[in-house]
Amino acid sequence: MIANLLDFDPAALERLFAQLGEKPFRARQVLRWIHQRGEADFARMSDLAKSLRDKLREAARVAAPAVVGDSVAADGTRKWLLQVDGTNAVEAVYIPEAGRGTLCVSSQAGCMLDCAFCSTGKQGFNRNLSTAEIIGQLWIANRELRRAPGRARAVTNVVMMGMGEPLLNLEQVIPALRLMLDDHAYGLSRRRVTVSTSGVIPGMDRLRDECPVALAVSLHAPDDALRDRLVPVNRKYPIRELLAACRRYLEEAPRDFVTFEYVMLEGVNDGEQCAHDLVAIAAQVPCKINLIPFNPFPKAAFRRSEPARIRRFAEILQRAGITVTTRKTRGDAIDAACGQLAGDVADRTRRSRSTRPARKVHPLTELPA
Ligand code: SAH
Ligand code: SF4
Repeated sequence: MIANLLDFDPAALERLFAQLGEKPFRARQVLRWIHQRGEADFARMSDLAKSLRDKLREAARVAAPAVVGDSVAADGTRKWLLQVDGTNAVEAVYIPEAGRGTLCVSSQAGCMLDCAFCSTGKQGFNRNLSTAEIIGQLWIANRELRRAPGRARAVTNVVMMGMGEPLLNLEQVIPALRLMLDDHAYGLSRRRVTVSTSGVIPGMDRLRDECPVALAVSLHAPDDALRDRLVPVNRKYPIRELLAACRRYLEEAPRDFVTFEYVMLEGVNDGEQCAHDLVAIAAQVPCKINLIPFNPFPKAAFRRSEPARIRRFAEILQRAGITVTTRKTRGDAIDAACGQLAGDVADRTRRSRSTRPARKVHPLTELPA
C-alpha cells in the first residue's frame, strides 16, 4: 500500500524511514519539505539522495484533500471547501488579525453529539477525518496563503473548532496536533493551538496526558438542567465532573486557564440569573469566558441575543472579576461567519450517493494569542 505521508506524525515518519533503511534525520528533512515548504513532489526535494527520492516515489505520496471552493471576504477572512471523499466535504477558515492568522480546523464530517443550537450536530455523524485530512487543512491553508499576493501571512494559530468533536477522534487528532507543534513541521507553540470540546471528559484526560494544548470548553449553560438540553453529552458528563476534569487538565496545560465558550441564545441562557450562576461556576476553575452570539441556520429553534442583552451579561461577569470577550462575527459576506459555513455531508438516512448542502456552524474565534 502507498503511504500518505500527511498521515505520519514525526515519530511515525521516523519508524517508516527505519523500515526503508533510512536514518531519522532523513525523516526530519522530509517533514520540513512537506510541512514547511509545502512540497508534495519528492522529485523536487533537492537535498535528498536520488535513491531516497526514488524509494519514496515507489512507497509514498503526499495527498491533501482537494480544494473545491475558495472564497475571500473583504476583511480578509478566507474559507476553503475541501472534498475528502465522494460524499464528504469539510471547511477550513482562515481569519487574519493584527499580528496573527488563525485557522479554524475540522476534525469530523458531521458530529454525533447533537447540541441543540449546532447545525453540524443536526446533520448527524458521517465519519472521523484521518490525520492527513486534518493536517491537510493546515497544509493547504499555508500553501494557498503563500501564493496569495499582498499581506496574507502564514497560519500562526490553530483552533480545532470546525466541524466535529475533536476529543471523539483523538486517534487521528493527536498525530495532527503533534505535527502542528513539531519544530520540523509547523512549529506552533502549545499556547497557539486550541482544542475545543463540548466536554468529553475521558478525551480531556487523554489529551492532557498525551498532548496538552490550550483548551476551550463549550459550556453554554450554568446548570445541568439547561445544559442537558443544549449540550446532550452533559447527561453523561455533568458540569461538576466537567469542572473537575478542567482542573485536572490545567495541571498540564500550556496556559493557566480554560476558555469557556458560551453561545448567547435569546431568552434561553442569556438572562441575569444565568450570568450570576455562571460567575459561581467560573469561581471553581481558572477561566476566561468567550460569549458567542448565536448564528442562526435554517430551521434553527433559537435566536441570537440582542447586543444590549449580551452587553449586560458580559457586564455582570466582568464586575465579578472575570475576563470576558465577545466574539466578533467575521466573514459574513462569504458565509464564513459563525453559523454560516456549509460543507457537503452525505445523507446518512438515505445513504444516497448524492450530496446535499449542510450548514456548518463555525465559531470564528478571538482566543488570546
Ligand atoms: N465540537 C467542539 C468543537 C466544534 S464546535 C465543541 O462543541 O466545542 C465549536 C464551537 O462553536 C463550540 O463552542 C460550539 O458550541 C459553537 N457553536 C455551535 N453552533 C453554534 C451556533 N449556531 N452559533 C454560535 N456558535 C456555535
Ligand atoms: Fe458537535 Fe460541537 Fe456541534 Fe456539539 S457544538 S454538535 S459537539 S460540533
